[in-house]
Amino acid sequence: MEADHKAAAGPAVHLAARAGAVSLVRCEDYDIDHLRAAVRDLLAPLGGMASFVRPGERIGLKPNIIMPATPDRAICTHPLLVAAVALAIREAGGYPVVVESPGAGIVPLKSVMVGVFRRAGYREVADRYDFELSYETEWDVISHPDGRQARRVELLRSYLNCDGLINMSKFKTHTFQVLSGATKNLFGLIPGLTKVGYHAKLPEPKLFGDMLLDVAGLARPRLNIVDGILAMEGQGPSTKGTSRKMDFLLASEDAIAADLACCAIAGIDPVAVPYLAAARDRGMWRGRPEDAVTAVGRPFSEFAVKDFAMPGKYLDRGGLGRAQWIADRPRSFMRSGFQPRPRPKVGPCTVCGACAQACPGKAIEMDKKTRVAVVEDEKCIQCFCCHEVCPNAAIELEFTGLGRLVHGMGLV
Ligand code: SF4
Ligand code: SF4
Repeated sequence: MEADHKAAAGPAVHLAARAGAVSLVRCEDYDIDHLRAAVRDLLAPLGGMASFVRPGERIGLKPNIIMPATPDRAICTHPLLVAAVALAIREAGGYPVVVESPGAGIVPLKSVMVGVFRRAGYREVADRYDFELSYETEWDVISHPDGRQARRVELLRSYLNCDGLINMSKFKTHTFQVLSGATKNLFGLIPGLTKVGYHAKLPEPKLFGDMLLDVAGLARPRLNIVDGILAMEGQGPSTKGTSRKMDFLLASEDAIAADLACCAIAGIDPVAVPYLAAARDRGMWRGRPEDAVTAVGRPFSEFAVKDFAMPGKYLDRGGLGRAQWIADRPRSFMRSGFQPRPRPKVGPCTVCGACAQACPGKAIEMDKKTRVAVVEDEKCIQCFCCHEVCPNAAIELEFTGLGRLVHGMGLV
């Protein structure tokens, strides 16, 4: 069934008037009082929460809860930050509700969602600060005639039932898309296992990134807030990444501007982020990111770091200016070994099956004898969903054959 989409019908005047404005504040911990003050300061240059919420409106809060991980792991948007924003929405007269569908390896059932919210700390915080968590797992198909890669998109009904959306991402690295920021977080509005189909259909990182822009264009959050207090570097976005204290909160009405600001802080070349490269090709930003973003709070330089650990994918795709051409070769060439391969390891692997559940290539089987998941390289499309969903950090990304040689020489 194709449904109406009232959640995207936000105050469009704000979207047009303030595109590119990014507010940035310092916040050094997740103390609720500190967070509430920081959120007030963060939104003040953008007009305050009242600019985004009308009295009586039901406002969806879309955090990143990719898996049932505790807040100290820096895998999920911190629940106390979500609480601080929920309280601000209430003060503005709105009704906040958390809408989310976790990563592709997690079956979208209410009983499963109950466990995910509990483990991620959301149940306890929602009870304490009195905001709703939606366990709705149904979705509707939304027509998107302007979409380039996705013209019919399955979106969570819990989101579609809202009057507006506030996107609350975690600042993390991402082995497939390099950066997991505001734009990428909106992919979580697509229900659980349905995400797998998008990876299967669009294995090329940039085409997948182009699809993310379609989804973001449909979702049209009124506001994007990025949790950069405890961020993630290295092999993100989940159990293989490393938490890093960066002490900032960032907000913008423009998801692309928010992500460009994250790149500026971490020293990421935005052209090496496939979805930001696709956004540049669409004319959503041009030239230098500094020209597309206007800082309206603290200056980006106050939080900039020089030693941010990039994901392996970043190095492979030419973030350092090397071998960018490889990223543009046909898939068949890419599969000759210039990309790393997922390699589950005996020991940490508990043969739980989450990776096989998330695998769009149906490339993973459980070897019960040796007690490890096994990847069939011929079927693998190197999307790294398995790496993302593994709860035990049991999957290494390794170069093989010619790729290992070229990687060892520092060429990719
Ligand atoms: S690698 Fe092992 S532990 Fe990790 S998701 Fe797969 S089966 Fe589970
Ligand atoms: S085995 Fe390959 S295709 Fe399957 S999830 Fe992992 S990277 Fe993707």
